[in-house]
Amino acid sequence: MNKKDECAVFQDLYELYTEEEVEDETKQWMMEHEAVCTYCQNCGKENGRNPAFHEDSEKVWGIRIMTMSLYSIFLFLAIWMSVWYLW
Ligand SMILES: [Zn+2]
Repeated sequence: MNKKDECAVFQDLYELYTEEEVEDETKQWMMEHEAVCTYCQNCGKENGRNPAFHEDSEKVWGIRIMTMSLYSIFLFLAIWMSVWYLW
């Protein structure tokens, strides 16, 4: 198995590995691989960053909803103004 393949296997199993759902032998191999492979260490850190990412997308949704409601109010006002003006 070359290094690239090892990393691919590591990435595939990483989720199971963090949930301790891999066999002891696999876990041992993954611990060893993680210790020596900076690439996979960085990937692991990125996985750890995921909750923050979810927080960010919630913020984005908040902004999106706020923009939508402001737009609705603006649209409502525009319609109301034109009706009022035409009268
Ligand atoms: Zn690796």
